[in-house]
Amino acid sequence: MSYDSDNIFAKILRGEIPSETLYEDDETYVFMDIMPRADGHCLVIPKTPCRNMLDASDAQLAACLRTVRLMGHAVMKAFGAGGVTVQQFNEDVGGQEVFHLHYHVLPRHEGIKLRPPGQMADFGVLKEQADKIRAALAEMG
Ligand code: AMP
Repeated sequence: MSYDSDNIFAKILRGEIPSETLYEDDETYVFMDIMPRADGHCLVIPKTPCRNMLDASDAQLAACLRTVRLMGHAVMKAFGAGGVTVQQFNEDVGGQEVFHLHYHVLPRHEGIKLRPPGQMADFGVLKEQADKIRAALAEMG
């Protein structure tokens, strides 16, 4: 299995298609999922190519998980959530649809299930939610 540099997240990283940016550092980039399964659902990706966890380097995994932890705190603060679910899928049989490593970060509230997959967000609402997360990150320093 090789890396296809035409995947949609590679295009987002190159700025060829738009995304709602939440955070970036030298190694990772975070943006809103356009089909959110919970309010505040965001995606953490490495800036360098790898298909998924199976071909990722130790450095890519470490950088992504540091950012996943940061975003877990940020989305819990932004949405007053009681917890956070992290999901990561590998190969199509494992549930992966976009073949650039990514971690789903989903704020969770007691008694509220994840929405079914495949429901496109209202982009105005997505931006409002992104503003909340960016504000939480700014407050966290
Ligand atoms: P998976 O590969 O199964 O982990 O899921 C890929 C995720 O990427 C899904 O949650 C999609 O909603 C999300 N997604 C697909 N295209 C975009 C995009 N252009 N911007 C943001 N999220 C996307």
